[in-house]
Amino acid sequence: MLDYADARSLVFDHAHPLSRELRPLPESRGFATAEDLRASHPLPLFDNSAMDGYAVRSEDVSEAGEGCPVLLEKLGYIPAGDPGDFRVGPGQCTQIATGAPVPPGTDAVVMKEDVRLEGQQVVVLKPLRRHENLRFRGEDIAEGRVIVSQGTRIGPAQISVLASFGYTKVPVIRPPSVSIVSTGNELVGVEDQPGPGQLRESNSFMLRALIEEENCPVHLVKMVPDDPGQLREVFAEALEADLLLISGGMSVGDHDFTKSIFAELGIERLFWKIRVKPGKPLFFGRRGDTLVFGLPGNPSSSYVLFGEFVRPALRKLMGLRELELPMIEAVLDEPVTEFITRMQFLRAQLWESGGEYRVRQLSFQGSNSIGSLVDSNALIQVEPNTPELLAGTRVRVRPLNNSIVLPK
Ligand code: AMP
Ligand code: MG
Repeated sequence: MLDYADARSLVFDHAHPLSRELRPLPESRGFATAEDLRASHPLPLFDNSAMDGYAVRSEDVSEAGEGCPVLLEKLGYIPAGDPGDFRVGPGQCTQIATGAPVPPGTDAVVMKEDVRLEGQQVVVLKPLRRHENLRFRGEDIAEGRVIVSQGTRIGPAQISVLASFGYTKVPVIRPPSVSIVSTGNELVGVEDQPGPGQLRESNSFMLRALIEEENCPVHLVKMVPDDPGQLREVFAEALEADLLLISGGMSVGDHDFTKSIFAELGIERLFWKIRVKPGKPLFFGRRGDTLVFGLPGNPSSSYVLFGEFVRPALRKLMGLRELELPMIEAVLDEPVTEFITRMQFLRAQLWESGGEYRVRQLSFQGSNSIGSLVDSNALIQVEPNTPELLAGTRVRVRPLNNSIVLPK
């Protein structure tokens, strides 16, 4: 039996970023950049106005005021998108729009609100310093700067920057394709009415949703009874993906025959069983470049193990630098009274109160519980051999779903 940290290291050791591909910019969201992407030019490209107003020579208006109006001759108007080739001499100015290039000779822009118009004359009523209301070439992003570093997940901000520098295609790491196989004689489809001893199959739906949240394509989803012939056939097809997720059939009894099927198919076992609760019977193996996780059928166990093992593996395969959801520190609102022997993840409710995070475990922690998945928005991580945690103790918490609003 492996410890949590050792099991995770083994997973990381076997998950290597996949190949690169070029994706059209609008379809790059969610993927990791394959290399550092740099600015091919300065941004902005030219000095321009930060305001709607008048481009002036600051020396002309440095003394302007309500009691000391300065009259300037207006040469014309530079709208956005116009090259703006005016030559502005002493006592002159041009009207200018936000973002329009400032004409040679000028070195400041006076806001529209700070002038009065008298025919072709602009009356400036406020003093102006040099460079006021100007945006300079390269002041935002210098040429050559890394704009999106390798392994960053591309989101709206990155897309904005990449668009600004003309990246019509983005080099990303290909995301792994994933097969999901749910096993169990007791399972029936969502559209079916469970008979005696049966229940509706839900894990494949949950796992599919988790995988799609990571922006990975789903290769195959199948539900199979515990029948060696059918399992062999489905696993063989499922192994065409980069990663195979098997739900159920990993417990002590089941494993005997799963083990022989794995061996027949050439799946090498890297570990089976970890000192983690929930999720002791986790299996991890590989065949060639395909990674295989065997998750316990209990929905809560498989949800927790996905987050602790599968998500980081997927993220590493897809070249991301950030491998998991962040952890935070929170204050226990109620004690945890049982003696915790294995590394444990308690489904919990997390909220913010008085400037700190507070957390309490759900009273029902059954590893088969489905209700606890919707009742919790966080996991409390408790180290092995923890006798008791008093209320007020600071604990490590992994928020789920980016939400710290208490579930209703
Ligand atoms: P197993 O790990 O195969 O022993 O399954 C443990 C328990 O998890 C079963 O008794 C079912 O109650 C439940 N279970 C297994 N597979 C699924 C599934 N795909 N969807 C929902 N519940 C499942
Ligand atoms: Mg089973």
